[in-house]
Amino acid sequence: MKIDLRSDTVTKPTTAMLEAMFSAKVGDDVFNEDPTIIELEQKAATLFGKEAALFCPSGTMTNQIAIKVHTKPGDEIICDQTAHVYNYEGGGIGFNSGCSVRLLQGDKGRFTTGDVTENINPADDVHRPLSRLVVIENTSNRGGGSIWDVNEIKNISESCKKNGLALHLDGARLFNALIETGETAIQHGNFFDSISICLSKGLGAPVGSLLIGNSAFIRQARRVRKVFGGGMRQAGYLAAAGIFALDNHINRLKEDHNRAHQLGKMIENLPFITEVFPIQTNIVIFKLDEKMPSETFLKKLSDNEILAVQFGKQTIRLVTHLDFNDEMLMEVEMVFKKI
Ligand SMILES: *Cc1c(COP(=O)(O)O)cnc(C)c1O
Repeated sequence: MKIDLRSDTVTKPTTAMLEAMFSAKVGDDVFNEDPTIIELEQKAATLFGKEAALFCPSGTMTNQIAIKVHTKPGDEIICDQTAHVYNYEGGGIGFNSGCSVRLLQGDKGRFTTGDVTENINPADDVHRPLSRLVVIENTSNRGGGSIWDVNEIKNISESCKKNGLALHLDGARLFNALIETGETAIQHGNFFDSISICLSKGLGAPVGSLLIGNSAFIRQARRVRKVFGGGMRQAGYLAAAGIFALDNHINRLKEDHNRAHQLGKMIENLPFITEVFPIQTNIVIFKLDEKMPSETFLKKLSDNEILAVQFGKQTIRLVTHLDFNDEMLMEVEMVFKKI
């Protein structure tokens, strides 16, 4: 039995999801004729109280399209030093949009309104790039699945409006945050000019992300998606998986969080572990002491059919998901005790 805790992207569609995919009605989406994609896009827009949405192949694409639409070359983007848009999108901010980045030193991926206002360049100083866009990542991946305080988001949103900056949410794992806090998608929709959500992470769809915003923004985003090569044809088969995921896989995220907490309990007292990040959602990040090199630890796990990833020096990440069950959790506990 292979136990894959490398990421929540590793899940395979359930039988019920596959059935929904098989029976999808499809058409050519570049001609705007795929009824299932149209349904998914409308569903997502309604969920967040926005006018429109755009189905894309990946969260990297939805983030990069948003950045492209919000900025001009030479503008500056403000985000945390740990941000996915900066660290894990292949330098796309420079490559696609020709923008520079102001990196903030937040707490587990979360920065404050003060951090933002202090880093907005004065618009009348020709030496400085124009600050144009703020990106928030909720939950924060490198922060260990940390959740943002909704009041801080509200304040940042107001500050962005006041200063003429756009605000984008990288919400690859937003639903993990919402299920914990009880806050709603509509509430969060209100704070942001654009929102990216991933269907292929905790929600368990095989492929797909959505970019959500007002009609004018999504009209431009649709053009950029074509330029980026992301205009798909009969992709309603994939959108059907997304609809199924939104209908059936949001509430169950709580189970992933419970299992992450249990993993945390199992490891906190192991002698070779020096620190476990606070566990808030489905991500467990911990540090190993020097006597246990990451490579050795990962090898011991993989010898026992358990997969995890290195996440920096002497740092390991485990992610719980739809295909990780209680039986596997017990197996992991046994292996940890043996190491
Ligand atoms: C996974 C992820 C994305 C998007 O990744 P893709 O693999 O391109 O879908 C964006 N932001 C965060 C925080 C992520 O974890």
